[in-house]
Amino acid sequence: MLDIKSLTPYEITEFVVNELNLPKFRSNQITDWLSKGVTSFDEMKNLPKDTIEKLKSICYISVANIEKKLKSSYDETVKYLFSFEDKECVEAVVMKYKHGYSMCISTQVGCKMGCTFCATGMSGFTRQLTPSEMLAQIEAAQRDLNIRISNIVLMGMGEPLDNYANVVKFLRLVSDEKSLNIGLRHITLSTCGLVPRIYDLADEGMPVTLSLSLHAPTDEIRSKTMPVNKKYPIEEAIRACKYYADKTGRRITYEYAMINGVNDTPFCAHCLGQLIKGTLSHVNLIPVNPVKGTGYNPSNDKRIIAFRDILSKYNVNSTVRRTLGADINASCGQLRGKNKS
Ligand code: SAH
Ligand code: SF4
Repeated sequence: MLDIKSLTPYEITEFVVNELNLPKFRSNQITDWLSKGVTSFDEMKNLPKDTIEKLKSICYISVANIEKKLKSSYDETVKYLFSFEDKECVEAVVMKYKHGYSMCISTQVGCKMGCTFCATGMSGFTRQLTPSEMLAQIEAAQRDLNIRISNIVLMGMGEPLDNYANVVKFLRLVSDEKSLNIGLRHITLSTCGLVPRIYDLADEGMPVTLSLSLHAPTDEIRSKTMPVNKKYPIEEAIRACKYYADKTGRRITYEYAMINGVNDTPFCAHCLGQLIKGTLSHVNLIPVNPVKGTGYNPSNDKRIIAFRDILSKYNVNSTVRRTLGADINASCGQLRGKNKS
């Protein structure tokens, strides 16, 4: 069966004209309905019955079904557990900011990267998500909350650059004016540092913001928490990020989850300052979300502020992030884990 929502408007036209032998305006109608987030061909009211039947027999529309929905009582954060056709589940989070709604979506069911602090990493890898399944998460939330999502972060379950072709296609689709029309500048892609793919992404000519999950300033510490570092050490990852910043003009964000006694010492702060001073970048300091079985605890405020103050001596910009929706385990991977047990 053809995954019609993973096709670009141009590809839909080719399919409708060449495969279905229908006039071009039918493809515009189909694209239009898909951009409205319809979940079945029956909703495409201006198509003839036999065209609808034909479409049903050779295509399908990806849908993200809401399995669970949690609302934070602290803020307006909403967390979803979505299931797909094969019953596999992923998580996504909608956050309200001053400028609108931002959504964190998943790019894989599980993850192969095995970071030791991450609930998704601990659960292993199941499968890649298709471009349409990434779109479906956004459409399901928009429909459910009756809102328009204006910003996207690829920071849910999975390593986006380990699903490169599907993620790039998703980025093209979601930013298409005939689709959800969310500008690439309003999208952030977070990676654990798959260096060759960072270079590839820089060369795609798509100005998304790149976020590197750094989480440690030395190879010794980083290799212990992030196995990917053994293959692509810090220096190579930072070099790739500099290339990305040069090529796109976009500031790099470095994510730094503060783990008590592991990566939050003054020594670590000095190493990080040395590492990225003078680069077009910003550091997000986030107290690690404690995940059962990891043995890690978040750094306290005093340690985080001391860390930030050392970074500022190197003129490195950093922000201490509040953890949105802390009461609903808004950090991804935790809800799916709970659902399974
Ligand atoms: N695989 C990508 C994107 C998904 S993870 C990546 O690693 O960047 C999204 C972000 O959540 C990453 O910065 C990741 O390091 C971080 N993260 C994972 N587990 C966390 C935890 N327990 N506490 C805080 N941040 C966590
Ligand atoms: Fe995968 Fe990112 Fe979790 Fe690491 S932090 S295991 S790369 S999802």
